[in-house]
Amino acid sequence: MYNPKSTNANEFIDNEEILKTLEYAKEHKNDRELIEKILKKAENVKGIDHREASVLLECEEDDLNEKIYDLAKKIKLQLYGNRIVMFAPLYLSNYCVNGCTYCPYHHGNKEIHRKKLTQEEIRQEVIALENLGHKRLAIESGEDPINNPLEYILESIKTIYATKTKNGEIRRVNVNIAATTVENYAKLKEAGIGTYILFQETYNKEAYKRLHPTGPKSNYEYHTEAMDRAMDGGIDDVGIGVLFGLSTYKYEFAGLLMHAEHLEASKGVGPHTISVPRVRPAEGINIAEFTNGIKDELFEKIIACLRIAVPYTGIIMSTRESAKTRKRALEVGVSQISGGSRTSVGGYAEEETEDENSAQFEVVDRRSLDEVINWLLKLGYIPSFCTACYRKGRTGDRFMQLVKHGKISHCCTPNALLTLKEYVLDYASEDTKEKGENLISKEVEKLPKEIQGKTIEYLDEINKGKRDFRF
Ligand code: SF4
Ligand code: SF4
Repeated sequence: MYNPKSTNANEFIDNEEILKTLEYAKEHKNDRELIEKILKKAENVKGIDHREASVLLECEEDDLNEKIYDLAKKIKLQLYGNRIVMFAPLYLSNYCVNGCTYCPYHHGNKEIHRKKLTQEEIRQEVIALENLGHKRLAIESGEDPINNPLEYILESIKTIYATKTKNGEIRRVNVNIAATTVENYAKLKEAGIGTYILFQETYNKEAYKRLHPTGPKSNYEYHTEAMDRAMDGGIDDVGIGVLFGLSTYKYEFAGLLMHAEHLEASKGVGPHTISVPRVRPAEGINIAEFTNGIKDELFEKIIACLRIAVPYTGIIMSTRESAKTRKRALEVGVSQISGGSRTSVGGYAEEETEDENSAQFEVVDRRSLDEVINWLLKLGYIPSFCTACYRKGRTGDRFMQLVKHGKISHCCTPNALLTLKEYVLDYASEDTKEKGENLISKEVEKLPKEIQGKTIEYLDEINKGKRDFRF
């Protein structure tokens, strides 16, 4: 029985409710009156439910689809302005006891080079990332209680925060590790993590069982209920996601939204972020096995519908996607991207040779961080290295209230400009620097008077060599 407040995965991701939703959406796919009504409701920027969003996703009428895209762009602009938050993944270890058939880190893969970073190697990676200009990391690790126990992750977080170069420091560490216990989540919270990220991979239990034949991750319920335990352990910000291409996208889309509704209903706070990776080729993975891949156009539609359904949630896109796809995705909903990523263990400090391959997936957008920043500036976006909320204690419900009341932009834009200024002075190439300075001057002019003066003051201080100002 569908119950968004239930603590049981099979009730808040109720298979029957998803099937009924898909049926309902199919039945109403070109129901003009209903679609117009849903869009009208969505204009309030309070979100829509999984059934309504599924109807939008199914719609095939060109003019209505145009309206869907227009609304997604409008919501994106209203809540996020032209800011794009930057981050980088940092792979700590690819040892893993699980058997996920789509991931090259699965324990049966003998072709992949297994690697686990020592604390000194982590320091080197962090220095390399700081020298590029990164301030926000997402650490990634396989599940292996012997090679990568929680103590290793906790020690690594400590090392990352403690590693500082001249003006470089990592100010927020998000963590993407396997589902664990409330006690362990409490320890992660104590270590000062930002968001706890865990992808569901697929909400379809049957497909889940097939794709996760062995290892602790094969327990669908334990995995699906992880965010509840994370929040019980005191973690305020959680990030969900599916791996599009594993099962049918309509099912995943409804499941994602039901998960968001569940967190909101039972914990009072929806997901902080939603990630939208698609299956990519990798060493030791037979990509032909995954026949549910989605085309670019459909992928954009999913992002637009997510933006409309959960306006307050950040949408993350990685370098799995090409510059072209990322450009369109940024317009219709994505608010956070990675740049200059390495998906191998130890790939920032040292380039890997071919026979050393330890990467989780093939990177498509291979541009350097500076090239990505330059590109964003050219497109009129403000690349932001802001990490202010977490450091000011604006997490969980406090953060959501600000976003929902449209107040967060008073912090985000000046913070984006301040952190871009730091990037421009410390790390940018000449051309990026010029573009960045121009954009900062233009954007400062547009700031509301009550924050403009302080922003100019902080920018002057940054020019004089001081760092780390925030609203
Ligand atoms: Fe391990 Fe995660 Fe890869 Fe599964 S997806 S094999 S749990 S690293
Ligand atoms: Fe994110 Fe908060 Fe910074 Fe805005 S002010 S970009 S919400 S960390």
